[in-house]
Amino acid sequence: MEKIKYFDHAATTAVKEEVLKEMLPYFSLEYGNPSSIYGIGRRSKKAIDEARNRVSIAINCKPREIYFTGCGSESDNIAIKGIAYANREKGNHIITTKIEHPAILNTCKSLEKDGFKITYLNVDNEGLIDLHELENAITKNTILISIMFANNEIGTIEPIREIGYIAKKYNILFHTDCIQAIGNINIDVNSMNIDLLSMSAHKFYGPKGVGALYIKNGIKCNKLQDGGHQEKDLRAGTENVPGIVGLGKAIELANKNLKEYNNKLIYLRDYFISKIEKNIPYIKINGHRTKRLPGNSNISFRFIDGESLLLNLDAKGICASTGSACSTGSNNPSHVLLAIGLEEELARGSLRVTFGDENTKEDVDYLIDSLVEIVQKLRNMSPEYLEFEKNKL
Ligand SMILES: *Cc1c(COP(=O)(O)O)cnc(C)c1O
Repeated sequence: MEKIKYFDHAATTAVKEEVLKEMLPYFSLEYGNPSSIYGIGRRSKKAIDEARNRVSIAINCKPREIYFTGCGSESDNIAIKGIAYANREKGNHIITTKIEHPAILNTCKSLEKDGFKITYLNVDNEGLIDLHELENAITKNTILISIMFANNEIGTIEPIREIGYIAKKYNILFHTDCIQAIGNINIDVNSMNIDLLSMSAHKFYGPKGVGALYIKNGIKCNKLQDGGHQEKDLRAGTENVPGIVGLGKAIELANKNLKEYNNKLIYLRDYFISKIEKNIPYIKINGHRTKRLPGNSNISFRFIDGESLLLNLDAKGICASTGSACSTGSNNPSHVLLAIGLEEELARGSLRVTFGDENTKEDVDYLIDSLVEIVQKLRNMSPEYLEFEKNKL
């Protein structure tokens, strides 16, 4: 089989060798239940404590403020529902944005059915929220602001520090879905005034099926699942020890190599975007030019259907994504692209290319050449395009 060229790092990443190596013993040799008091159990517990330590160092909090979960979506669910139900007496209003991941949007929708009021903030053409709109949305019933650190489709980085400042000023809790930003941006929950933060290991070269949630000390958050008293009674269930060990190792590695990694991704991304702009007409670069994740590019191609583009890329061994991996299967254009004001045609013709560790400049050249060829081929089959070209003459 030909080696694939993988440009979908916002969807998931491969587990790093060093991460896997640390995880492996906990599948077999070190199989003790962390709740057991004998040696093999204590060693599992120690491994979890070490991972908790590593996570806390990475985001500048205390180890006891970190709770391990089953995935990023679960962290988001616990954060939003847990805070909503713990603060029901205080108020029923939550502020979020129109461009959140479904893990946030659908959690909010579910709360709406239970009497909570949700404000979904608009974003501008580049995906940024308006801080005045945020401040104006606050009422005496507002208990939580949940705004993503960086968007998974267009890569736009929100003004988190300023949001944290506003939340603090009005004494409202601030949660951020940080799942795309961890491993790409230096996070400091203290200086950024973040009260709750979600992360997921598989987005930064750790394993799938394990996440973490930071909850600032002293904040009451309800649990969603009954059972044993694991994770300080917030999340019942025997811990995923190998997964947690993997998450800890992955976040440590990510933070150690952050600068170098960033520089590499920025180079590949900017090279890609500039070449595409030069070689393919009738396109639009989505998201913010500078306030964006180092590895993210999102481009709309006029007269093209994103799905056809993906299938043709796949035939060449290239993995990328349209609007959102999470909306695959539905035919709707991405809610994020519509929120930044794209017309439906452009939203349907979008391609997300997200770079990562194993990508090389040669890979990117192959991607560019393939895209130039495929886009022309598809356009030549589009009646709208042919009509457009005819009228141009
Ligand atoms: C991937 C992702 C999630 C979901 O994380 P899982 O671990 O896959 O459940 C949530 N929010 C954002 C922004 C993501 O990119």
